[in-house]
Amino acid sequence: MLIKQIPIRNNLRNYMYLLACEQTLEAIAIDPLNHSLCLKVAQDLGWTIKTVANTHHHHDHIGGNAPVIESTGAELVAHAEAMNAIPNVDRGVQAGESLRCGELHLKVMDTPGHTMSHICLYFSGSDAEKPALFCGDTLFNAGVGRCDFGGDPEVLYNTFVEQIFPLADDVRIFPGHDYIQNNLEFTLDREPDNQAAIDLQKKFVQDLDPESFVSNIGIEREINVFFRLDNTLVREGIGPNARDDKSTFIGLRHLRDNW
Ligand SMILES: [Zn+2]
Repeated sequence: MLIKQIPIRNNLRNYMYLLACEQTLEAIAIDPLNHSLCLKVAQDLGWTIKTVANTHHHHDHIGGNAPVIESTGAELVAHAEAMNAIPNVDRGVQAGESLRCGELHLKVMDTPGHTMSHICLYFSGSDAEKPALFCGDTLFNAGVGRCDFGGDPEVLYNTFVEQIFPLADDVRIFPGHDYIQNNLEFTLDREPDNQAAIDLQKKFVQDLDPESFVSNIGIEREINVFFRLDNTLVREGIGPNARDDKSTFIGLRHLRDNW
């Protein structure tokens, strides 16, 4: 699979993605908010956009759909239950379905919590290529999606327990926003002695470009406080209401909302 991660550099620091089949150069555009940039990048690469896929219905993910589709004739794919929130969806998808483009296959995951109808797209990898997860606003580098715009932190916790925490360490993470530096600060606010987070933060201060940094699940287990629910410092920092992983996760999400 060919992957082009495109930073939009807007206020919300959205990422959009082009994923292409190596054989046919047919491509899927994920959440192509900046439509002109998306179309230009595809043209420069010689890729043909056949599908637009939305991870969820928030405007900063669907706002570029119409012009991309008008220009390419692409099919619009989204969560089956987001079809009344996203105009002109051609195909509603559910958990376990396959999204195909040329020889490329992605598995649809149903990952509610940030919104109640949110999909992630999973690439299972090959001998030569690590797996990859295109996770919209479910999982960020060193953070998770907020739940106060139509979501539910308890549902998001269940999504993580059932679908995100069990992923293999080598699954690469391609989120819907570049929030890593703020998120690392939040991790360190909760767990000041987290050496992996301290080391990564130092690299960003030195010369690591956040837009070229690709995390994976193994790294997230170290630097993402939402993966560290049984850490004593993290749990005690939530207070006496944090009895277990679930209440710790929900407590962290509430703290992060107002942080
Ligand atoms: Zn969103």
